[in-house]
Amino acid sequence: MSYQDFKGNLNGYYGTVCAVLLYYYNTQISMTIIPMQEGIFTVTPTKDFTRITREEVKTADKGLLTMAVCPFLIALANDIILVDTGLGFKEEGKPVIIKVLEDAGYKANRITKVFLSHLHKDHAGGLGYMDNGTFIQNFPDAEIYLQENELHYALDQISSHSFNQEILEEIAELPNLILINDTTGTIGEHISYEVTGGHTPFHQVFWFKEDNVTAFYGADNLPQKSYLKFHIAYKSDYDGKKAMEDRQKWEQQAKDENWTVLFYHDISKNVVAF
Ligand SMILES: [Zn+2]
Repeated sequence: MSYQDFKGNLNGYYGTVCAVLLYYYNTQISMTIIPMQEGIFTVTPTKDFTRITREEVKTADKGLLTMAVCPFLIALANDIILVDTGLGFKEEGKPVIIKVLEDAGYKANRITKVFLSHLHKDHAGGLGYMDNGTFIQNFPDAEIYLQENELHYALDQISSHSFNQEILEEIAELPNLILINDTTGTIGEHISYEVTGGHTPFHQVFWFKEDNVTAFYGADNLPQKSYLKFHIAYKSDYDGKKAMEDRQKWEQQAKDENWTVLFYHDISKNVVAF
């Protein structure tokens, strides 16, 4: 082989390596959003959740609320994020959230960050479970982000059926808990949050931005797409008017800025591009 041939081969090789790296880089930077559907549930006024099948939705007791519970996995270039965690419902002794993660190809220990919008049990219950008096974390390798004021508020709601106090007391002591005190801010380059109040006093929402994609999670201030159709302030919210005003503002922004919106409680569609 002449030197020129050798150099030509080397350039070809180098070019191939670059192409592969570029391909790898390109495939790594596009945001992946996967709904982690824990199930569809009926909910009694005292917040007892019973899982039903999709077929049972039509025949479910009309006096009960029927809703999906759907955390989200968001894979960014440098983080694998879980947005809210579900009820902590188990199937054959195994948390459903772990099972749906594995079905999507993700082991629980790959989750780097968990974001909690608020501490109602259908959002925080999937963080872990009690086993003979010991709290077993489902995502022990993740940083868990939560508003400090929301934690204090929730720990005071001892007679509310919406919170699981036993789990909350464990969450408060977790070594991987990161309590946020600011009402707006960013976490790294791609994640921002805002305390909105509304559903609970210190309820927070999140934006995930990477390349040209903006994913927005309005949690229980925007739990289902149909909430955009009706301008209603719900009595079940701590401040229903604020939640309603947020929804109207976000709908406009979603259209103007082409957001992808995540609906935690929507039975038919959890991820909608505007
Ligand atoms: Zn909820």
